[in-house]
Amino acid sequence: MAEQAQKALIAFDTDHIKRYVFATDRLKEIRGASSRLDRLNRDDMVKIAKLHGAEEVYANGGSGLFIVNVDNADTLGRAVQQAYRENTGGGASITYAILPLTDQFNGKKLTEVARIDVKSELSLLRWKLRQAKDSPPSTVALPSHPFMRPCDACGVDYAAVSPKQNEDNSEDDADISTDARYCRSCYEKRQEDRDVKSKIITGKATKDRLLWSRLIDALAQAHYCTVEEAKGITRPDSFNESILSDKSQGYLGVIYADGNSMGKMIEEKLDTLQKMQIFADRVDDAIFTAVAQGIKKTLSKPEATPRSLTPIFPFDVLLLGGDDILMVVDAAYACQLAVAIAKAFRDEMIRCDKDDKDKLLAGLDFSLSVGVLLVPIKYPFGLSREMSEAVLKAAKKEGAKRRKAATVSAKNGNIQSDDGSYINFMVVAGGSVLDYNDAYGTLHTVKLDVKDPEFYATLRPYDLATFDLLLKKIYEGKGLGRTKLHQVREAVMQLNRTTSILEAIGILRTWKPKERDFILKVMLEFNDRYHRRREGIASADTTLVQVPPVFPWFIDGTDVYRTPLLDFIELYDFVASGVQEEEGR
Ligand SMILES: [Zn+2]
Repeated sequence: MAEQAQKALIAFDTDHIKRYVFATDRLKEIRGASSRLDRLNRDDMVKIAKLHGAEEVYANGGSGLFIVNVDNADTLGRAVQQAYRENTGGGASITYAILPLTDQFNGKKLTEVARIDVKSELSLLRWKLRQAKDSPPSTVALPSHPFMRPCDACGVDYAAVSPKQNEDNSEDDADISTDARYCRSCYEKRQEDRDVKSKIITGKATKDRLLWSRLIDALAQAHYCTVEEAKGITRPDSFNESILSDKSQGYLGVIYADGNSMGKMIEEKLDTLQKMQIFADRVDDAIFTAVAQGIKKTLSKPEATPRSLTPIFPFDVLLLGGDDILMVVDAAYACQLAVAIAKAFRDEMIRCDKDDKDKLLAGLDFSLSVGVLLVPIKYPFGLSREMSEAVLKAAKKEGAKRRKAATVSAKNGNIQSDDGSYINFMVVAGGSVLDYNDAYGTLHTVKLDVKDPEFYATLRPYDLATFDLLLKKIYEGKGLGRTKLHQVREAVMQLNRTTSILEAIGILRTWKPKERDFILKVMLEFNDRYHRRREGIASADTTLVQVPPVFPWFIDGTDVYRTPLLDFIELYDFVASGVQEEEGR
């Protein structure tokens, strides 16, 4: 009897995705790099694996997991590495790790072994993958010769390719000359972006499972635009006014989101290949659905304008897949879009769980954290991206802390008041602080003595429901005088309970009764929400708590003073301007 081949698991993970994708500040190269990695991951990796007789557990979000005969595993790993090197001009690389499986897997198909407990094998494989990533092969020194010309796009590597005459190289890149030369890496990125563009126009973009194909499918399913209509819509050329509406005030919104504690969930709860597969696919699908539904809910379908005869998508997607989203949109719609995406993701995960009769992922808690950065369009994108990442990190950190506290509180019989999704934002005004943590530091006092009261001029980061409340209040408050709002900001920023209160009450007196009532009602509602959360009161109870706020503050527990007013004012110009269209539709 022929001996049945021993099986192994092979795991892949792309190295330094962001360093590769965001090597330059130009939208086309970023988008091309992102699409190229996506294709390598979802398409090429899977094809190469099949050639080696491997079966796919999953392949998305920059990583992959396969089951393969142990004798073929290393050749497969090297073949995938080579594909990454060749197709990115050496710009991106991928690491793999192999774990041989026990005899019970010998000669079996994935479907036959998918339910076997492999928790410890997976954890060992993860450890091996981390080890491999921590010890990369020695880097090759770049040639440095005074006669070698650097790449016109990244300026780092040496130019090796000059685009052919017929490639639309410079027609829409005013900053790149017609005789531009690129390094292999940048050249491949630009090529990929062109390929995707022609695929969208010819309608071929729905035949595969790549980023834009799936996004267009998802947009069609969300009834934003049909697949046929998508052919006539183009993507923005660069980070310029073509992305913005006349409501943006020259500001771009950068939305950065990712899943909460996904890594931890995978390690602790996923003990079979079947669960790994369902988890990876479900999260990846939900990300696309959530983005498409968010877009449908927030943005109108693009139309031809005198400025651009071809309609342009009013957003662009820079990273999408796994549990990551990075996209840009008109600042006037960014906050609403962020909320809509986080909500839709949550709903989609709940729906999937309901539909799954076997309840394979029951008990897993899926949610997103989102960072929103509103930044002048002229800003270098690399800087904006880094800032948006810091804004997201702060949301995740605070979210993890509050989730932990909420779990303790729930165990004590209290009601959990949020779903684990957190949203954070930052507005970069001309000349403002560029570091999120520095900016946040100026918005609260530091307790020097136990008896000191604490002042928080911001409620950031927000749980989803509270942020939604803030946005609603901003729509309703449209028409409040901007000057008075800015006076309130000055009063709040005193961060004390003497002059800040005196000044704020003084401003309140100058408001018309209707406006005064509105602002006081806003304070009462936030006061109420924090009170309920503290006391664990269900939100079904609709009477507001009768603890009056100390304008411009409300007191959270003992001696902690908070206010939503500064956040209200910061977002006021953006959110209020973005809402008109909504009403008109
Ligand atoms: Zn380059």
